[in-house]
Amino acid sequence: AKRKGKNQYCFFSELTGNNEYKLLMELEKDLKNVVQNRELELYYQPIVCSKDEEIVGVEVLLRWNHPAKGIIFPNKFIPIAEESGLMPVIGYWVLEEAIKQGFEWKQKGFNKLILSVNISMSQMKDHSFIEVLDNVLSNHLLSPAMLQLEIRESDIGFDLKEVREFINEIKKRNIKIALDDFGAEASSLLSLKELPIDVVKIDQNFIKNITAKPLDQILLNGIFEITKGLHLDVIVEGIENKEQLKYISSCINTKLQGFYFSPPLPAPDFEKDILGMDMFKTEQEIACMSVK
Ligand code: C2E
Ligand code: MG
Ligand code: MG
Ligand code: MG
Repeated sequence: AKRKGKNQYCFFSELTGNNEYKLLMELEKDLKNVVQNRELELYYQPIVCSKDEEIVGVEVLLRWNHPAKGIIFPNKFIPIAEESGLMPVIGYWVLEEAIKQGFEWKQKGFNKLILSVNISMSQMKDHSFIEVLDNVLSNHLLSPAMLQLEIRESDIGFDLKEVREFINEIKKRNIKIALDDFGAEASSLLSLKELPIDVVKIDQNFIKNITAKPLDQILLNGIFEITKGLHLDVIVEGIENKEQLKYISSCINTKLQGFYFSPPLPAPDFEKDILGMDMFKTEQEIACMSVK
């Protein structure tokens, strides 16, 4: 806030009002030492294949265990971290921690798991990002093919050329790029036209009412047509119930993610409940019964 002073005050107070503003200022102060204080934690949510519900990947999602306020979600603190210039440090921590974890799971035999890590706008703009990425990958021996980076639609607006160069560097390393929150921003189709994306993650907004709203069905099927035509891999986010699963599975074979399969979990729980157990075989049987 000091850096931007008055502007930042306007930014926060217009959005939130005074009490909320005070809270955000407190959070910003506390955020400065999150990495040193070991208050950050990664949660992992499975990505499954619609055909057999086999786990094909995992999205890495950041949580802040605040000593007084409990778990704080990323939508709350990442914008503050971005504004106050703390995001690169936090982002590197995420990357290294995720890659370490991915390598550990690979060693345990889960070697087909794609690790999908969210990258923020400031990381895309940061010229040392690629170098750090290379270092982290070689330090922890994770094959780049096991890594996927998610960039958000709303972050792309700033400079297509810059983003394209960033993506090309990433892809040279055999790392995949997913376009997150697809459809939620005005730039969607332009991003597909201008950027060498591998994967599209369809925003959960399209899925929420998919069984009840013909409009949403038309839009979703339109997106499927586009991604099929462009040979893009798809992940449908926000699957919360069997009806949504049934509808999507009747349209297309795709990858799915959502609370219906599992919420994001801390690493030990993910390993025990998702990787270790045959929960997905059970889900698979349930799904087969309900889809047919
Ligand atoms: P996202 O990348 O689109 O991640 C999916 C969000 O949807 C996660 O929220 C996840 O918990 C939630 N979700 C998953 N399944 C369902 C479902 O079935 N229903 C509903 N309603 N929600 C579901 P989360 O973990 O709170 O993260 C919010 C956003 O924060 C992420 O959206 C991502 O943009 C950002 N984020 C999270 N971790 C990181 C990170 O390490 N770095 C950066 N730069 N951004 C992150
Ligand atoms: Mg994401
Ligand atoms: Mg998403
Ligand atoms: Mg999202």
